[in-house]
Amino acid sequence: MAELAISMANTAPSEAFDEAHFVADVRAFLARALTEDLREAGRATIGVHADIAVCRIWHRRLFERGWIAPAWPRAWGGAGWGPRQRFLFDRECAANDAPILFAGGLRSVGPLLIEMGTQRQRSRYLPAILSGDDLWCQGFSEPGAGSDLAAISTRAERRNDDYVVNGSKIWTTGAHHSNRMFAIVRTQDGERRQQGLTFLLIDMDSPGLSVAPILGLAGEHEFNQVFFDDVRVPVAGRVGAENEGWAVAKRLMQLARANNTPAALLRRVLRRATQAVAAVDREQAPMLRSRLAALEIELLAFEQLELAALPSGRPGGADQTTPSMLKLIGSELHQKIAELIVEAAGPYAAAAWGARGLAGDDVDLGARAMGKHLAVRAATIYSGTSETQRNVIARQLLAL
Ligand SMILES: Cc1cc2nc3c(=O)[nH]c(=O)nc-3n(C[C@H](O)[C@H](O)[C@H](O)COP(=O)(O)OP(=O)(O)OC[C@H]3O[C@@H](n4cnc5c(N)ncnc54)[C@H](O)[C@@H]3O)c2cc1C
Repeated sequence: MAELAISMANTAPSEAFDEAHFVADVRAFLARALTEDLREAGRATIGVHADIAVCRIWHRRLFERGWIAPAWPRAWGGAGWGPRQRFLFDRECAANDAPILFAGGLRSVGPLLIEMGTQRQRSRYLPAILSGDDLWCQGFSEPGAGSDLAAISTRAERRNDDYVVNGSKIWTTGAHHSNRMFAIVRTQDGERRQQGLTFLLIDMDSPGLSVAPILGLAGEHEFNQVFFDDVRVPVAGRVGAENEGWAVAKRLMQLARANNTPAALLRRVLRRATQAVAAVDREQAPMLRSRLAALEIELLAFEQLELAALPSGRPGGADQTTPSMLKLIGSELHQKIAELIVEAAGPYAAAAWGARGLAGDDVDLGARAMGKHLAVRAATIYSGTSETQRNVIARQLLAL
């Protein structure tokens, strides 16, 4: 009953659409546009996005169909879909192994600019986010500032119409693929550390900016350290007022956390778990099967939570709890599913990880299971650790 109530609430009159027709339309498009090589790249992904060349191809195909930004308003080139349409679309993409996009522009800075950018910034940046010509990375964390983000020390000094930036950002996912970065920098030493921060949009090809790779636990090159040596950023690239970037960064984090672990991503991983458990001898698998069933129930609940919590696709401005709750529950569930896959693969997963790239489907499947498990350890760290999310939720709910 509760499930029914939630789905009815979310298919309110404003979202009236012919569900069967919509799903048939999506399936027809996927059958045409999602070629086998793209599906295989979707299956092979162990990190946070598919191979970047594949991301670009899939991004373009969705853009040309008008479906690249399901939650963006139509006025800004989005599909303007309601929660049920987005849910069905994501579910079909996941069921067909569509590549996971490198989507910082689509999921975080694009929606942020729609809300808080100037007209000029929107006209300049949004079309290229939609087309995929611009890829964005996030420059928040620094060697001395992660959970304690207000400790950032990368400085920007105003000189005429530019800021001159010096310092370093770290763990910057996809900086080596991106041509733009959104970042927070210190422009003043305030009484409170949250004061004196400014939110900037930076071109990655600016003179003085350099990117050094960092390899992750699974051996993948996904993140980087970025160095700024007298990098000039035009004042026109500032979002919000000078020294008041904390509020902008907080809003960005709300948007990013709310979309950090979509239920459709978990559905895709759970499908892998179902296959992995099915491959285990029936006699030996009762515990694995009961855990799989428990995870299926958790995921069903999470799907309903996502549908109910984000009717517009965006959290409300004052609502810190919903994004943190979705991020916390989603990322921890992600890890539990990835662990089950490795356990179903058994010791073979570790052996296959050692032998990866050698040959054979079994080796690849085992290696993928272990690679995914290792990569997903980071899910409860990036976009704010689980402890950080719990602190945010506790502060807001208990009014601390
Ligand atoms: C794969 C990956 C990708 C990333 N991508 C990006 C990116 O693109 N851009 C970007 O800016 N950053 C990125 N990050 C950085 C990420 O946001 C930080 O790692 C994260 O915020 C934690 O900061 P830290 O690593 O400095 O750990 P710390 O803040 O030093 O935390 C260490 C431990 O202490 C705990 N802890 C800290 N403070 C508290 C507290 N007050 N209460 C309870 N426990 C606490 C933490 O939960 C954690 O377990 C990425 C990280 C990873 C792993």
